[in-house]
Amino acid sequence: MPVPEPTAAEQPPSAASPGPHAHPSPHPDRAGRPATLPRSARVVIVGAGQAGLSVAYHLRRRGLTPGTDLVLLDRGPGAGGAWQFRWESLRLGTAHRVNDLPGMSELGLSFDTADHGRAARDVVGEYYRRYEEFFGLAVFRPVEVTSVTDAPDESRRLRIHVSTDRDTIDTDVLVNASGTWATPFRPYYPGAETFAGEQIGTPQFRDAQHFAGKRVIVVGGGTSATGFVLELEGIAAHTTWVTRRPVEFVDDDKNLEGRLAAVAEQDEAARAGRVLPSIISGTGLPATERNRAAVARGTLVARPPFSRIESGGVHFADGSFEPADAIIWATGFRAELSHLAPLKLREQSGGVAVERGRSLRDPRVFLAGYGPQASTIGANRAGRLVALQVLDALQHPGHPEPA
Ligand SMILES: Cc1cc2nc3c(=O)[nH]c(=O)nc-3n(C[C@H](O)[C@H](O)[C@H](O)COP(=O)(O)OP(=O)(O)OC[C@H]3O[C@@H](n4cnc5c(N)ncnc54)[C@H](O)[C@@H]3O)c2cc1C
Repeated sequence: MPVPEPTAAEQPPSAASPGPHAHPSPHPDRAGRPATLPRSARVVIVGAGQAGLSVAYHLRRRGLTPGTDLVLLDRGPGAGGAWQFRWESLRLGTAHRVNDLPGMSELGLSFDTADHGRAARDVVGEYYRRYEEFFGLAVFRPVEVTSVTDAPDESRRLRIHVSTDRDTIDTDVLVNASGTWATPFRPYYPGAETFAGEQIGTPQFRDAQHFAGKRVIVVGGGTSATGFVLELEGIAAHTTWVTRRPVEFVDDDKNLEGRLAAVAEQDEAARAGRVLPSIISGTGLPATERNRAAVARGTLVARPPFSRIESGGVHFADGSFEPADAIIWATGFRAELSHLAPLKLREQSGGVAVERGRSLRDPRVFLAGYGPQASTIGANRAGRLVALQVLDALQHPGHPEPA
């Protein structure tokens, strides 16, 4: 699908101006949002995390007006995407770099120079909020999109009907940027339902003190899992770390090849409509000083998966039994797409076929932050890539004919 090159209409707002503050009419509330959702829009974006904001920024730069022809919906209570819900002790840059949003330098802000002593959820929440205000992105929140369906209009063109817990909107193009936070993945192990202790997933983790004096099993090979193991050190009575594959700690600067390969694998699966593979299995874990030291003192030493769970603990294949009071499942996430089910985008192979952020089944639908775009840098790249294709879709509507 050819993508138009940026035109003169793309001029960014002046760096000297305090920001465009494009308050949509008719009746902005104190936060600058219209009091009611518009009935119709050219583009609806579901989700105001890194991916949704990035797409909105590029569309606004290219002439769409937020709040009227470009409508951003987010069910969270505040700015920050999924970051606003993360645990207090999580800091920016503990594991990976958090990329700036496009145009963020115009506000004089950068995550690189942000206070890394503050909770990441507070910093990201504050920076996203200032970004939304500066560029007048007029996010409607809290608004939850409950379903997305086809809607033939009078000219028998197909539009997209977006139902929310507040109102409905028809749109020409939908950009889904709903992330993964609400759909953690938990693998099944025999006996899991008989475990008498506590089982939580990453989104339920609040602080290590909650596990004081307990015997904890942490499952997962990613940075959330290693972070939990390190936080529990000296607080939990005992921590056992379990990973599906042997763990490799890799120097960040030497791991570019691994990261590129992992992104390429995601891209291939997305294009083929397969279930997306785990990113960590391709990239390894960062060999930070903190991680190296923890390996050396025996804290970050992983055991292979257990074979079954019983009331008081887990059984390993070597015959050993580990008593446990709690299991933390830090076993990744799946894209949250259930509200798109009526559009029937899912392939028999289990995934949604997506190329360069665009659904192959329905060219009116984009998935930003999906598959190869699922990182803050990927989400940023998605912004421009998706925005240009959205403009193309608006100019050359290729709607499927109504049945
Ligand atoms: C613990 C943890 C640490 C991470 N650390 C890093 C890091 O250091 N660096 C990095 O690059 N990446 C990191 N990531 C990945 C990072 O979160 C993502 O790359 C990026 O922030 C995701 O942005 P997003 O916009 O795709 O999703 P999100 O931030 O999840 O935003 C999605 C938004 O959509 C909204 N939404 C969802 N469904 C609906 C609906 N039906 N209706 C309305 N709104 C909806 C949500 O409220 C949310 O605000 C981390 C992930 C985790 C879990």
